[in-house]
Amino acid sequence: MVIDAHIHFTMPLSAGVDEARRAMGEELELIAEAGVDGATGSLIDPLYSNCDAHSQYNDFFAETSKGFEGRFWPWCVVNPVNHDAADEVRRCYEVLGMKALKLHPWMQGFSCSDDYCNPVFEVCAELGMPINLHDGSPPYASTPACGEVARRYPEAKVVLAHAGLNDQWRQARDLACELPNVYLTMSGPSMLAMQSIVDSVPAERLMYGSDYGAGGVSLIHYRLHKIQQLEMDDRTRKMVLGETALRLLGAK
Ligand SMILES: [Zn+2]
Repeated sequence: MVIDAHIHFTMPLSAGVDEARRAMGEELELIAEAGVDGATGSLIDPLYSNCDAHSQYNDFFAETSKGFEGRFWPWCVVNPVNHDAADEVRRCYEVLGMKALKLHPWMQGFSCSDDYCNPVFEVCAELGMPINLHDGSPPYASTPACGEVARRYPEAKVVLAHAGLNDQWRQARDLACELPNVYLTMSGPSMLAMQSIVDSVPAERLMYGSDYGAGGVSLIHYRLHKIQQLEMDDRTRKMVLGETALRLLGAK
């Protein structure tokens, strides 16, 4: 089973749940035609720094995702600068059933090392809720800064959603080798980088992800093809292409 561990949808609140659900169904159909059985990800809109409606977006996205169980697992989004962000994360997990969080320090304009983020990381660590961090874009979203969250919170599951992109993949690889709570989604690094990552990091913490939504279905074809060209044994391939993501989501 192939799971894309990093996708995005663009759905304005004004679309309404029925229209958004129809659009999601169509997009998941296109994704399936590209060879992907299931996916997990967030909305783009609440990742902008001027968003002040995270709870509405989380309600909307959780509701829109209903009916796609087993095919799509929605992530919630908060901005840690908001004082109620940690409570909102807990609500998303416990009430809305959203099993992972997405943070984008660069787009959202915050630094993971600032103390105001701590309550969000603490609640994720307590709940065992994966934190998907956009990484590889210094300064706010540098891979070392994102990885530091995993060092400070050993109970937290920290996903570096781009495995360092092209400039910081070595740091991503080394962090994942050093810290057992660092997971890598290989959305972006070169073939050379991905082969080195696959050769070094346990498969239980490696995932395929396309970042679909930052581009069209061609991104899925392109990044899936890259993963398929890597040299790895069958078990590793199975983990990277879906098992790791399912385990992380608690779906397995
Ligand atoms: Zn992303």
